[in-house]
Amino acid sequence: MRDQLEEIRKRAIADLGDDATETQIENVRVRVLGRSGELTEIMRRMREVPNEERPVVGQLVNQIKRELEARIAVLQEKLKAAALEKSLSEAQLDVTLSGMKIRRGHVHPIHQILEWMLEIFVGMGFEVAMTQDVEDDFHNFEALNFTAHHPAREMQDTFYLDGGALLRTHTSNGQIRVMEKRQPPLAIVCPGRCFRRDELSVRASPMFTQLEGFMVDRRGKITMAHLKGVLTEFTKAFFAATAVRFRASYFPFTEPSAELDMRCLLCNGAGCAVCKHSGWTEVLGCGMIHPGVLRAVHYDPAEYQGFAFGMGVERTGLLKLGVGDMRLFFENDQRFIAQFPELSGGAR
Ligand SMILES: [Zn+2]
Repeated sequence: MRDQLEEIRKRAIADLGDDATETQIENVRVRVLGRSGELTEIMRRMREVPNEERPVVGQLVNQIKRELEARIAVLQEKLKAAALEKSLSEAQLDVTLSGMKIRRGHVHPIHQILEWMLEIFVGMGFEVAMTQDVEDDFHNFEALNFTAHHPAREMQDTFYLDGGALLRTHTSNGQIRVMEKRQPPLAIVCPGRCFRRDELSVRASPMFTQLEGFMVDRRGKITMAHLKGVLTEFTKAFFAATAVRFRASYFPFTEPSAELDMRCLLCNGAGCAVCKHSGWTEVLGCGMIHPGVLRAVHYDPAEYQGFAFGMGVERTGLLKLGVGDMRLFFENDQRFIAQFPELSGGAR
């Protein structure tokens, strides 16, 4: 039995040479140390060993076991180190290679346009107020002088929700919401999303952004002259417009009402396809707040007076960026959006 053990040991050590491969090592491990390996077999046959020799044989088995386990551990460690060495020498890091470029995102052009607009109005002392998208009939229509059978109500196709609520068709509800809660003097701009039943097209979208603004104070303090001053200043600052004109118009919530045109930026007034050969481009609608609107928020029109204006942010964006199709702003095609990287960081 001892000779047999000595034989097992010798053979195993011979197989576990310095250049033994992973497979060879594993074979020896299974053959000698495995569950049905040679050493297990010896232990099973221990009964054949005379009593007095059993402790010596047992010790020898354990000794061989420890010796082989230690040898295997050394060889495996060596193989691991060699594998690491190999992968390091093969996969060398070339620090001169150019890195992967991570594309930097930026603010969506519409948000950027809106930010610029707000910046200009804030610079003139206006305060920004956010108001709600889901409105009731009173704040979206009635208080703005669209009475129940007012023909102007037909001008807008509205998304109605369950229970009579609706999606606001303009940001003019902001005037009502703010004036209901606060007392003049007020100089406020209300940006926000609006919704109308329009098909998405070159010039229209069922969802769009508007900027509403208004200024109210005691009668005589805010006049049509202030309206013209503020909006002329805005148009010059935002578009670098060379000339503006106010044209009489009609809105239910202002009286008198006007539209502001600027001299066409493309042809400088000479006439081109964009300005339909008029030399002028429409920018926004405005007017003196209608006495009916002031009464709706419990302001006495004999005491207070003010002006209001509103403009479409996407439409203004089209003019500012020289983009011909409003749909581009909503499709979020990176090929389009990424064309305005200079818009990030506020550079103009
Ligand atoms: Zn033109």
